[in-house]
Amino acid sequence: MNGTLPNGLEFLLSPAVAAPFVPEDFTTEQKQIAETTEEFMKNEILPNVERIENKDFDFIVEKMRQCAELGLFLAEVPEEYGGLELEKTTNMLMIEKVAPVGSFVMAFGGHTGIGILPLVYYGTPDQKERYLGKLSSGEWFGAYALTEPDCGSDPLSSRTTAVLSADGTHYILNGAKQFITNSAFADLFTVFAKIDGKHFSAFLVEKSFPGFSVGAEEKKMGLKGSSTTPLVLQDVKVPVENLLGEPGKGHKIAFNVLNVGRLKVATQTLGMAKAAFGESASYSAERKQFGKAIGEFGAIKEKLADMTAAIFASESVVYRVAGLLDGQIATLDHGGSDYYERYQKAIEEFAAECAIAKVFCSEQLDFVVDEAVQIHGGYGYISDYAVERHYRDSRIQRIFEGTNEINRILIPTMLFRRADSGGLDLWSQVKEAAARCAEASSTKPANDEFASAFSLLDSLKKLVLLVVGDTVAAKESQEVLMAYADLIIGVFALESVLLRADKCFAKASERKKGQLQAVIKVLAFEQASRFQQAAFRAVAYGASGEREPALQKIIAERTAFAGTGLLPAKQLLADAAKESGKYLF
Ligand SMILES: Cc1cc2nc3c(=O)[nH]c(=O)nc-3n(C[C@H](O)[C@H](O)[C@H](O)COP(=O)(O)OP(=O)(O)OC[C@H]3O[C@@H](n4cnc5c(N)ncnc54)[C@H](O)[C@@H]3O)c2cc1C
Repeated sequence: MNGTLPNGLEFLLSPAVAAPFVPEDFTTEQKQIAETTEEFMKNEILPNVERIENKDFDFIVEKMRQCAELGLFLAEVPEEYGGLELEKTTNMLMIEKVAPVGSFVMAFGGHTGIGILPLVYYGTPDQKERYLGKLSSGEWFGAYALTEPDCGSDPLSSRTTAVLSADGTHYILNGAKQFITNSAFADLFTVFAKIDGKHFSAFLVEKSFPGFSVGAEEKKMGLKGSSTTPLVLQDVKVPVENLLGEPGKGHKIAFNVLNVGRLKVATQTLGMAKAAFGESASYSAERKQFGKAIGEFGAIKEKLADMTAAIFASESVVYRVAGLLDGQIATLDHGGSDYYERYQKAIEEFAAECAIAKVFCSEQLDFVVDEAVQIHGGYGYISDYAVERHYRDSRIQRIFEGTNEINRILIPTMLFRRADSGGLDLWSQVKEAAARCAEASSTKPANDEFASAFSLLDSLKKLVLLVVGDTVAAKESQEVLMAYADLIIGVFALESVLLRADKCFAKASERKKGQLQAVIKVLAFEQASRFQQAAFRAVAYGASGEREPALQKIIAERTAFAGTGLLPAKQLLADAAKESGKYLF
C-alpha cells in the first residue's frame, strides 16, 4: 500500500477493505457535465443516427465542432493550454454518455483520446503550441496510426520506416497503416515508424504533408458511420521538430496511451450496454404475445435481470478503475517538466486493472446486446431497431485497443513480473495458500447483508493463489494464462460490485437496498460458477493428474454459493427494470 492508496494488482493479495470510487459518489458538477453531454446526444446525435451511419462526415465534423464549443474536448487538455484537466471519473462519465451512438463515440474518442493524448503526454512546448489549440478547439481533428497491414497485435514489428534527410531537417517516412479511425477528416496523425528500420518512434504528421494519402473507407460489420481507412506514406517529409518523444521510445507512447484507452473502451461498452438495455426493457413492456407483455414471461425476466447485473458489474469496474487512476494522479506534484512522465507511471501502476476493465466490460456488452436482440425477436434483426446497430457495434470492442487475448495475456504476466521483482508479495502467499484455504474469511463488510458474498470473495482470492501454486510450472502455455486471467478478472469484478454495494447501502432508500441485495445475489452466484469453470480449466491444463481430484474438490467446496433467494432476486430486478424502462442503478 502507498499510504491509503492501493497499488496495482494488490486487490488480489489483500482483503477487500478500501472503499473505491463508486458512481453514487458523483458530485453535482460531475452530474452537470454528464447532463450537458446527454442533452447534446439527445438533441443533436440520436435524431440523426441515420445520417451518421451513412458516413455523412461533413455532418459528423459539424457535430464534433459543437462538442468543442461545449468544452467536451477539453477534459484531458492541460490547463495552461486552456484545458480542464478533469478527473478520469468525469472523463469516463462523459464518454459513457456519448457511447450510445457507437459511430459517433469513435469519432469523439478517436479525437479526444488516442488523437490528442500522445501530444499532451509527450509533446514539446513548441509542438503543443502549434497543435493543441487547434485540436482542442475542433479546428483540427486527430488520429492515431499504429496498426499496419502486417502488424496489429505486434506493433513493434512495424515496417514503416523513417530516415533522416541528408541535411538533417526532415525524416522521410515510408510505409502503410491500416484501420485508422477518423482518417477521413483528421488533420494530424500520430504515426509510428522505425528510424532506420530499427528504432520505433512516433511522429506528428499533418494530412497536408506531400506523399501522405488516405485510402478508401473500409466496409465494416458495425460502427458504419465511423471513418476507418488505410494510410499510405510515400517519401513523406516530416520536419525533425515533429518527432514526438525521444527517438526509439515510440513503444512508451504507443503502450501508455493504450492503458487509458482500454479504460475508455470499457466505458464506451458500458454506455452502449445501458442504451441496448433501455431499448430492451421498454420493448419487453410493450410487445405482447399470448395476450400479455413478453416482459411478463420468466424467460424474458431472467434476461432483464442478468443484463442489469452485467451492467452493474461493468459500471462498478469502470468507475473503480477510473477512481484508482485519479487517486494516484492526485498524489503527483503538478509542476516540473517531467510531470507527464510521472503521470504515465501513475497510470501504468494500474495497467492490469485497465486491461481487466477492457476485457470484462467488452464481454459484458456482447452478452447484453445478444440478449437485447433476442428480446426483440425478429425485429431485433431489422435495422429499424437500435439493438441491431448495438449488436454490430459491439463486436469490435473485443478486438481493438489490444485484443482480449492480448489483454488476457497481459494480466497474469504483469502479476508475475511484479511478484518476481519484489513489488508484490505473491510467492510467499502462494506457499501458504493450501493452509489459508481452510481458514474462515476474516473480512467484515459494513453491512451483514453482504457477508456471505464477501466470504465467497475471500475464498476466490485464496483459490487463485492455490491454483497458481499448483499450475505455475505450466504458465508458458497461453491456455493456462487465459484461465488465470479469467480468475483474476472474476475476483476484481466481484470485489468491485461488493465494495460498491457495501459502500452505498446505508444511504440507499429501502427500495434501492432491495435492488442492491438482489444484484449482489445474482452476481455472486454467477461469478462463483464462472470462477469455478476457469479454476477447473487451469487445473486441468496445469496440475498433475494425481493433484487434480483434490484440487477440484477444494475448488468445488469453496466456490459453492447458496442459490436460495436467487429467483426472487432476479424477478425483483426484472420487474423494476420493466417499470422504469431503463437501467436501474
Ligand atoms: C474499426 C476499427 C478501428 C480501428 N482503429 C484503429 C486506430 O485508430 N489506430 C490503430 O492504430 N489501429 C486501429 N485499429 C486496429 C486494431 O487495433 C487492430 O485490428 C487490433 O490491434 C488487432 O490487430 P489485427 O487486426 O492485425 O489482428 P492480429 O494481431 O492479426 O490478431 C488476430 C488474432 O490473433 C490473436 N493473436 C495475435 N497475436 C497473439 C499472441 N501473441 N498470442 C495470442 N493470440 C494472438 C489476436 O488476439 C486475434 O484473435 C482499428 C481496427 C478496427 C477494426
